[in-house]
Amino acid sequence: MSDTTPHPGSCLCGAVAFTATGPLRDVLGCHCSQCRKTSGHYWAATSVPLERFEITTDEGLVWFRSSATAERGFCRRCGASLFWKPEGEGRMAIAPGAFDDAPPFTLSGHIFTEDAGDYYAPDGPPPTPGPEQADLSCGCLCGDVAFSVSGPAGEVWACHCDQCRKLSGHYSASFDADEATLRYRAKRNLSEYRTPGGGTRGFCSGCGSSLWFRSADGEFSVEAGCVDGPTGGQLARHIFTDSKGAYYAIDDGLPQE
Ligand SMILES: [Zn+2]
Ligand SMILES: [Zn+2]
Ligand SMILES: [Zn+2]
Repeated sequence: MSDTTPHPGSCLCGAVAFTATGPLRDVLGCHCSQCRKTSGHYWAATSVPLERFEITTDEGLVWFRSSATAERGFCRRCGASLFWKPEGEGRMAIAPGAFDDAPPFTLSGHIFTEDAGDYYAPDGPPPTPGPEQADLSCGCLCGDVAFSVSGPAGEVWACHCDQCRKLSGHYSASFDADEATLRYRAKRNLSEYRTPGGGTRGFCSGCGSSLWFRSADGEFSVEAGCVDGPTGGQLARHIFTDSKGAYYAIDDGLPQE
């Protein structure tokens, strides 16, 4: 029986909300460099015809023209990656992590897998890490925020908590770094969002890219997807898997907690 239920969704701070009425397309993971920059790991999306999609709160909504034929929608207050709208196709691609309920879709495949980061594989265990990077060049999709931080990236941890799922649109991946080594080359649209748990999240309010997170106790981590070249790191662990989305499985053999 096909799903004709309205599914509500929102960004983390609530300044953007929408409803998408089923049936919703199965979810595809996209590993292109734009999706990796925007989400901070890799982006994923379901899709729905525009006539079954409605924005119900748009206070925080910003559209960034990411290519000649598509725009990306994100929240300028919390930085959540929400939408991808291809021109002339009459549909909206929506991040599965943005939904407030659990629509009956499943992650059914991956695209642009050749552009995946070096620290994970789209399917299965992560590859053997490349050479350690002493200095990691990072930046957002639009170029308004660029910085470097001392490596090595080392272990990359995937986080499936509710907050990371809302902000990245799927789930996050990051590595610990020493904030004292952070050097900005550009920070024109650097925005900071104070999360409900007392942490601070850095993102670009020009394009919505996820950049870094500083926890309430000062621990600093960088989103693996914002690294410009190879990270030299390796996905090593999944955390907060109790909160993971119902639409995907974790089957890369790594420890889960
Ligand atoms: Zn928001
Ligand atoms: Zn940007
Ligand atoms: Zn998290």
